[in-house]
Amino acid sequence: MTDSYAVIGNPIGHTKSPLIHGRFASECAQDMRYTAIEGPLEPEDAFAGAVREFMAEGGRGLNVTAPFKLRAFAMADELSDRARMAGAVNALKFEDGRILADNFDGIGLLRDIESNLDRPLAGRRVLMLGAGGAARGALLPFVEAGPKELVVANRSVDKARSLAGQAMNRGALVRASSYADLAHEGLFDVVVNATSASLTGALPPVPATVFQAEGLAYELAYGKGLTPFLRLAGDAGLRQLADGVGMLVEQAAEAFEWWRGVRPSTRAVIEQLTVPLE
Ligand code: NDP
Repeated sequence: MTDSYAVIGNPIGHTKSPLIHGRFASECAQDMRYTAIEGPLEPEDAFAGAVREFMAEGGRGLNVTAPFKLRAFAMADELSDRARMAGAVNALKFEDGRILADNFDGIGLLRDIESNLDRPLAGRRVLMLGAGGAARGALLPFVEAGPKELVVANRSVDKARSLAGQAMNRGALVRASSYADLAHEGLFDVVVNATSASLTGALPPVPATVFQAEGLAYELAYGKGLTPFLRLAGDAGLRQLADGVGMLVEQAAEAFEWWRGVRPSTRAVIEQLTVPLE
């Protein structure tokens, strides 16, 4: 029987996940169907109802996207370490009536930076802008990559402090910063924009002094060309600029492997979905 998977979000019309998983399934010869579900926003428990209905119909797993990552976290029977630290879930697997949950956003981002863009974080100074869901998901994989230092800057500095505090319990050199204090922080090898500012064409108030010509500026949003953040980095002389399309495909590959036990290749799919930055 064909196994059934889906991505659930609201809105969901923009999703690339059926295309990505469709390509993975053909490449890996997997007998599976992958669709998109527009999840119900109201009432609060309607999302859990939609997930259970999908399970009852024989569904094997779901990708979860905005705004349901916290609700998926709340209904899981078993959480990975990553999902627990992120406080959010982006993939579910159904086994013997149980809901297993993970968060592959952070590891997808790390893989894109380290493998696809050839920028190992070990021993590097890394700056992460933002302390929302995506930043929380990235924290554990980033810490495990062994950077020399990881600085988290956020508009609400308390959120950055609380995130940095969680990571310090794991022995890593992680600090919180305000945007204003970044002017005294010197240069970073990798600067990641994990804020949602670009979705509205805004620029997080990061000073251009954090960028160095040999560094990488990474924008989590994708398909938007040169965002104000990437433009700032480019104007500061950075030659390596990237958006989050690779992260999107890499997190999908992680979920696919978790579900199917086989790892798809990602390069051709990333190329297909890449929108040139210029
Ligand atoms: P959240 O809503 O959880 O967090 C938003 C973050 O952005 C907060 O830290 C918020 O700061 C900050 N922020 C919002 N506007 C501004 C602004 N104008 N200036 C400075 N900071 C701002 O969002 P997510 O973490 O879920 O998503 C963040 C980004 O990552 C989005 O662009 C999203 O599309 C992208 N993403 C990409 C993925 C991929 O596969 N490529 C996967 C997941 C997310 P404060 O706390 O102070 O409000």
